[in-house]
Amino acid sequence: MVSLKRIQRDLVTANHILHFHSVLDAYGHISVRHPENAAVYLMSGDMAPATVSTADQLIQYRVNDSVAITLDAPRGYIERYIHGEVYKRFPDVHSVIHSHSEDVLPYAIAGVPLRAVYHTAGFVGYDPVPVYDIENSYNDTQPHDMLISTLALGADLAQTFVSPENAHATPQTVSPDTHLVLMRKHGFVTFGTDIREAVYKAVFAQSNAKVQTMAVLLKNAYSGLQDDNPRTWANGSDESSFEPLTRRQAKDTTAGMHAAGDRAWLLWTAEVESQPLYVNNVTVDTVEEAS
Ligand SMILES: [Zn+2]
Repeated sequence: MVSLKRIQRDLVTANHILHFHSVLDAYGHISVRHPENAAVYLMSGDMAPATVSTADQLIQYRVNDSVAITLDAPRGYIERYIHGEVYKRFPDVHSVIHSHSEDVLPYAIAGVPLRAVYHTAGFVGYDPVPVYDIENSYNDTQPHDMLISTLALGADLAQTFVSPENAHATPQTVSPDTHLVLMRKHGFVTFGTDIREAVYKAVFAQSNAKVQTMAVLLKNAYSGLQDDNPRTWANGSDESSFEPLTRRQAKDTTAGMHAAGDRAWLLWTAEVESQPLYVNNVTVDTVEEAS
């Protein structure tokens, strides 16, 4: 079993990596399930991810109600319910990330479907990434401030990870049906079976969105340059559309993702450890590391 210290050190490093790659800025967050107690998760207190550096800045919350397990815990993120409710709904999930990435945000606003467009982002999926619209969860008495600030809002968001055909299945699915959910006019949520997988998905979800946007812009610009351009490309696709991965390609590249993840984690860890902005003061016993 991975030790709590190891998890805490990796959680601090993950905060730094996600900031270094602009997945998180002053806002957004990552959490991880406690390695010895599945009913508890850890995430930093209310601070910018780049500045997280010590184990005592990591708050332990009960999955059941996202209340800190100690009375003297520092102030936490308002939107921790995103994390708690995804852990509650999906026992297989061990790390959750919420981001306001500006590369992904257009797909949470413009009504353009986000789909997997290249091989390291196959997990984004062949079907358009589902969009959670908080407006449908509000009642008139609540502030419409777009924040997942209650258990009920978190539960509605978590349910978006279940496909419509499984929504009323009994027993309920224990694993999400999609790796990514967009939050309309807000951001996105992804998860992992561990911290490394969650970080990989968050970074490449952002890259996939950037590449898809560039491909659509490039294709439309190229089409516009050709006066005698036929209205379809050689393969029959509409000239203004893009070509995502096929369903088979998305599925098979996702299956290969786990083998590739460690190389990315080791590179990204070395990057943040070389930057003076990022300080990780959580030490892991080397004897324990070797075991
Ligand atoms: Zn947010």
